[in-house]
Amino acid sequence: MLLENKVAIVTGGTRGIGYAVTEAFLAEGAKVAVAGSRQESAERAVAALREAHPEAALMAIWPDLANLESVRAAFAQAKDAWGALDVVVNNAGMSQALPFDAYTQKDFDAILDLNVKGVLNGCKAASEFMGQGGCIINTSSMVSRNGQPSGVGYPMSKFAVNGITISLARELGRRGIRVNAVAPGVTETDMVAALPDQVKEQMLLPAIPLGRFGQPEEVAQAYVFLASSMSSYVSGEILHVDGATIM
Ligand code: NAD
Repeated sequence: MLLENKVAIVTGGTRGIGYAVTEAFLAEGAKVAVAGSRQESAERAVAALREAHPEAALMAIWPDLANLESVRAAFAQAKDAWGALDVVVNNAGMSQALPFDAYTQKDFDAILDLNVKGVLNGCKAASEFMGQGGCIINTSSMVSRNGQPSGVGYPMSKFAVNGITISLARELGRRGIRVNAVAPGVTETDMVAALPDQVKEQMLLPAIPLGRFGQPEEVAQAYVFLASSMSSYVSGEILHVDGATIM
């Protein structure tokens, strides 16, 4: 198994891509702390995962990702319980589609708090708890190449995720910590289910040479690769998993 006894934390692990990453990590022998936004959703996800993987080492955590102290305290639970911290996946995120004229201060704060501060805080706590060696994987997006025609906050946040990833790969590499990002294309999760059918069929699908949306399970395999020794010399990479989407 590729991740035998590795201790991992997956933020946004309660559904969608994060849930699929958690399942893929469990299948490869990892112990996983599933971070959700609320105690109830984190515990519900862990209960569902336990049914499918009765032998798995799992725990639920629910840090406020915008608050470094809260993230530290939650990550400490995994390290204290399992004695190490090997892999942190900073995946929790939200999207935005607002026209720029409709943006308010609250909208800017919301996306910065979760998609940028949340990733920075996850990287910071990971770096503190990992010591020498480890692996951080951030979730970027295909929009970090060319932006998108509305909802500027979302691509802004994912360009920032790429900047954090590339810079920290250079800073933490000397301690043997690899930092990479996965940039999914359109992947069939709740986030995409919320889009109007017209946007999906007329705007998104025609831009995907593979002719279909991605599944969370196939995106998750990129995280397994980046968390495992198969990628031992890969760091500072933004790995696009998007069917060659051109947007
Ligand atoms: P999703 O909406 O299914 O899941 C989002 C996850 O983030 C959930 O687990 C949720 O609990 C968590 N989350 C949301 N708000 C939170 C908060 N305030 N505090 C803590 N956790 C919070 O979406 P998804 O598609 O699985 O998205 C996961 C990541 O993938 C996001 O970073 C998203 O930007 C990125 N992404 C998704 C797609 C796609 O097409 N689905 C494409 C590119 C990038």
